[in-house]
Amino acid sequence: MDFRQLGLDPRVLRAVDDAGYKEPTPIQAAAIPVILSGKDLIGIAQTGTGKTAAFTLPLLTRLTTGHSSPGHIRALILAPTRELVVQIHENVRAYAQYLSLSVATVFGGVGEKPQIEALRRGADIIIATPGRLLDLMGRRYGNFSGIQHLVLDEADRMLDMGFLPAIRDVVRQLPKRRQTLLFSATLSREIESVTREFLQTPQSVEIGRRSNPAETVAQSVYEVPRHLKPAMLQHLLRDPALEMVLVFTQMKHGADRIARRLEQNGIRTATLHSNRSQNQRLRALSEFKAGVVRVLVATDIAARGIDVDGISHVVNFDFPPAPEDYVHRIGRTGRANAVGDAISLVSPDESNDLRALERFIHRTLPRKQLEGFDYSAAAPAFAADSGRRPSGGHPGSRGRSPGNSSQGRPSRAPQGRGPGGPGPADRGPRPQGGGGGGTGGTGGGSSRGGTFRPRRFR
Ligand code: AMP
Repeated sequence: MDFRQLGLDPRVLRAVDDAGYKEPTPIQAAAIPVILSGKDLIGIAQTGTGKTAAFTLPLLTRLTTGHSSPGHIRALILAPTRELVVQIHENVRAYAQYLSLSVATVFGGVGEKPQIEALRRGADIIIATPGRLLDLMGRRYGNFSGIQHLVLDEADRMLDMGFLPAIRDVVRQLPKRRQTLLFSATLSREIESVTREFLQTPQSVEIGRRSNPAETVAQSVYEVPRHLKPAMLQHLLRDPALEMVLVFTQMKHGADRIARRLEQNGIRTATLHSNRSQNQRLRALSEFKAGVVRVLVATDIAARGIDVDGISHVVNFDFPPAPEDYVHRIGRTGRANAVGDAISLVSPDESNDLRALERFIHRTLPRKQLEGFDYSAAAPAFAADSGRRPSGGHPGSRGRSPGNSSQGRPSRAPQGRGPGGPGPADRGPRPQGGGGGGTGGTGGGSSRGGTFRPRRFR
């Protein structure tokens, strides 16, 4: 199918062309005509299926036909996390680059002043987390009486995070006559009841199943004594094919230690975990996306905020005890139709976890030997590992670090080395979204247009 058959505005199609998309993903092919027809929609689609474009492209097309009036807001997109808001914003700016629509973001953890100003000015589209938005709405900022479109993105996660009361309060202040789109990775009873509450005779689209990471991600295992893991990671990184690398550790301090060591060896590295401030996390993500840092070291929970395209390799520095975490981790690469590599460093104390995973995914992962690597180096007096399973650790005792419980996840922004797309040499810092997308996290504000980088295809 061709994007041109879907009824999108020609300027939106031009931006889609710029992004390097050849054809609509299944969720896009199914959802775009429904949204253009003005109907409410339930989209059951996981992240990585192209769902952001599935609602953004028709939304922009519809907004081109109306007109904005000063101080009014025409479309509201609610998302569970700041990271997701920033990423949707990047997508919207890219797809709207040939339109003159204004976009602003609203989310917590950063200064509210630019957001208040943006709400006062009005915007065609506001992308927000429910908590901060409700706070500002409660103080009478923003005129929401002209809202024509409401999008609830990752609704299941918003419910998991306890946002239902805030969403209710926000929606209560919106006009009843509006189009409402709800996206969720799963269709639970709770989600069904939410759709009954907020949507009117919606159409459902449930074809957004993300491709099985096993099909798009090449997975391999390097068995290695724990004390040699840092050296092995460094050795692996000598290969320039490891272009954009997400490294997972179990513990925050392990992440810091690895990052320090890589930095000392001239490899630009950032970290993402819950001990870091919101601004630090946003900066780490945007530098990673822009290619300013090559390696991002993250813990599982912090990594739920990651939905970066173009990640060439996921490295499990620590092997995850929970098979679901493994699947989640490797799904950070090989997104949509792109490809990726997942490399696991597995020490003897983790071999049970590896076997449990193999039972879970019904396949054996190939074991590899790292060429030119010295496996015989002796253990130092203090093993410089990531801090997982200190003495006394056993397969049942590991867990998450108790303080590491912040936030949600995903993000996006095409990039990579696709057909017609920029190669690695093009990886310069990218301009970030005017509102909240910037490094240092100014938060809020508005913008028009944007840049976009195509994806990595093999
Ligand atoms: P999402 O499900 O919105 O997180 O989308 C994941 C990624 O898929 C986006 O960041 C885009 O880079 C990419 N994408 C979206 N639509 C297409 C398409 N039609 N063809 C190829 N890649 C796409």
